[in-house]
Amino acid sequence: AGPVATVAAVGRAAKSGILVKGGEYLEKLARSRVFFFDKTGTLTAGKPVITAIRPANGFTETALMETAAAVERGSTHPIAVAILEKAAKMGLKEKTADQMTVIPGVGVEGIVDGESVSVIAGSADPNDAGTIVQVVVNGLPAGEIALLDRARPDVSSALDQLKALGATHMAVLSGDTPGAVKQVADDVGITETHFRLKPEDKMAFIQRTDFADTVFVGDGMNDAPSLKASAVGIAMGQGGSEMALSTADIVLMKDRISQLPFLVRLSRKMTRTIN
Ligand code: ADP
Ligand code: MG
Repeated sequence: AGPVATVAAVGRAAKSGILVKGGEYLEKLARSRVFFFDKTGTLTAGKPVITAIRPANGFTETALMETAAAVERGSTHPIAVAILEKAAKMGLKEKTADQMTVIPGVGVEGIVDGESVSVIAGSADPNDAGTIVQVVVNGLPAGEIALLDRARPDVSSALDQLKALGATHMAVLSGDTPGAVKQVADDVGITETHFRLKPEDKMAFIQRTDFADTVFVGDGMNDAPSLKASAVGIAMGQGGSEMALSTADIVLMKDRISQLPFLVRLSRKMTRTIN
């Protein structure tokens, strides 16, 4: 596309709440046939609700939640937000953790009342449909917390439109467990799923692929390396971390995935224009 068409397209996108950091990303998007999606906060709203609290080994529900909340206080992950909200609702004592460490795409750990606590990606049971995190205290299981994070309502239709626009290949790349990833993928009509990927695994997956002009759509939480590694890194705007804003090539500021097909159409129109 010529400079006039490019400036016009970038301006048109901005008017619709889409930040495009350079005309070259629209050039690539116009050619893209391969779309990779992060799950949490991207295909899903990133607002999980707790569906079950299952204490184990003599822990009570209260003790389990108090302990989990203490270490989650240092995280901004949607799971941390859900656990902290639930703990507040239950009126639990606000404990704090020392030596809080976030392990991206895995969980959090810290010291609570002198005991080492981790809250990490859970249950390997493939029959578990939702997201499960397990709480481990001094190396022993203290129980599990089950969460459900539904697919965004506008995803299915957006993906159908992308397929109609010629997308040949779509996959979910997630740090979550198989059951949780497959449930969301089924909901939105994606058959290829990759699970238990840490941020660097997602990046490596994208770097290894033979496809050209790959698009990665993420929310910036645990997927900044993938936003960088793909030909076109697209971030969801809201809840979207500062990270997403600085790493992505394109940001959907309105946080609506339905803007993806709109942007592909816009990019195709742009590349057909000479001036
Ligand atoms: P996705 O790739 O689906 O967007 P993330 O990479 O953000 O998901 O997280 C992957 C998994 O790591 C989560 O499903 C969860 O099991 C675990 N996890 C990440 N952050 C936390 C946290 N703060 N507390 C507990 N578990 C977490
Ligand atoms: Mg995510």
